[in-house]
Amino acid sequence: MLGRLIAQITYKEDLMSDPNPEVVEQLRQLLGDQAVRTQPDDFMPDIVLKPESTEQVSTILKICSAAGQALVPLGGKTGLANGHFQTDSELGLSLERMHAIEEVDTANRTMTVQAGCILQTAAEAAEEQGLLLPLDFGARGSATVGGCVATNAGGNMVIRYGMARDMVLGLEVVLADGTIVTSMNKMLKNNTGYDLKQWFIGAEGTLGVITRVVMRLRPHPRSQNTALLAVDDFDSVGKLLHWLDGNTAGTLSAFEVMWPDFYEFITRQGSIHRAPLPHGSAFYVLVETLGSNPEADAESFETVLGEAMEQGLVSDAVLTRSQSERNALWEIRDDVLEFFKLGPIIPFDVSLTIEKMESFVSDIREGMDRLDASICVVFGHLGDSNLHLILGNENPDAFDYGALETLLYESVERYQGSVSAEHGVGLSKRAHLPRSRSEAELQLMVGMKKMLDPNNILNPNKIFSADKIAAT
Ligand code: ZN
Repeated sequence: MLGRLIAQITYKEDLMSDPNPEVVEQLRQLLGDQAVRTQPDDFMPDIVLKPESTEQVSTILKICSAAGQALVPLGGKTGLANGHFQTDSELGLSLERMHAIEEVDTANRTMTVQAGCILQTAAEAAEEQGLLLPLDFGARGSATVGGCVATNAGGNMVIRYGMARDMVLGLEVVLADGTIVTSMNKMLKNNTGYDLKQWFIGAEGTLGVITRVVMRLRPHPRSQNTALLAVDDFDSVGKLLHWLDGNTAGTLSAFEVMWPDFYEFITRQGSIHRAPLPHGSAFYVLVETLGSNPEADAESFETVLGEAMEQGLVSDAVLTRSQSERNALWEIRDDVLEFFKLGPIIPFDVSLTIEKMESFVSDIREGMDRLDASICVVFGHLGDSNLHLILGNENPDAFDYGALETLLYESVERYQGSVSAEHGVGLSKRAHLPRSRSEAELQLMVGMKKMLDPNNILNPNKIFSADKIAAT
């Protein structure tokens, strides 16, 4: 429902109009009734197309291009920027029937999958071969590989393995006019001109429809060491990150910081989560290393943390001894939905260089006081310069979406940060994109959009408004 609310504010056209009936009839004949589904979603019927091959995707796009019929490519619809929002006049394009794992190539450590494959299914197929697909986050059971690539998803291991962008070796994409661009490279090095795949990664379905992907796999780790640390001040958080990264031989795979308002609420009395460390510290940091030698890695992990304590970077620590203890720590960090119990909230996802974070957060808190808004929860993947903030108001009558958004994004602009660290732009952030991108950058992006999608049929109004495209 929030998606529809944002859309009503940001879209100018009538949300209630229908797609072109002749186009729908033509597509019904192409795909069959079963693959043109009207589904009651968001209380309104949306038409969703479910092709079963790249060739069908190509024909769909040819038909829609000729008729100027807009389409919204859909993955698992778990994105947090409303990039998958579909108006009633638009057609959804779901690749859920294109979910095959075509190959796990153990010699080259690659995996070739169709875009509709669920992320968790792909990760399990890699694991069966002793390999790791290092892309993981809460929505793993419903997010699709194509959606992850189209939104350049991040997650909990970015510090070690990078974002989706860093794992893609090859892509197959269908352009707006139906042209199939097959670029299924499996090699780590391939320096033959423009890196075309990067145009489509993170483009949120606005430049083409991703149909198949070659992902890079890594050796599956044999050791995992996890700890929760208490830290007294922000300066020590930054030093701790560098200390751990420099002394764990490249195995640091998570550095998740929770401000006390996060940790203390999740582990409050009566919560299902037990507090592994007492309340009252300035920061809590969940750290994890993934290595190859269980005994030696556990010993050196303990040594490195011991040295961090001697230096005063860490004031208290809990090391996990079992998978269930490890899971319990991650459940604290991942239980973000719990904050919806506080009242109406907005989750934000921004980037800042680490030395600016402390002062940024205190500016936001002052602003929240001025607005009389009571909910301000901060956490993030600090090793990736990524902060998540949850802002809201315990009093629903005083909840002011626009004021909170303006407060946050104005500060991000002032601190020269990014209005989106990992969730993308979609519909939710497009008005604020100029805060993080120069006019020259935006013009270049719009120029690419116009070249690849001259009729503006692919996920129109996401990232840029149709007005912006028309005016550039
Ligand atoms: Zn995140």
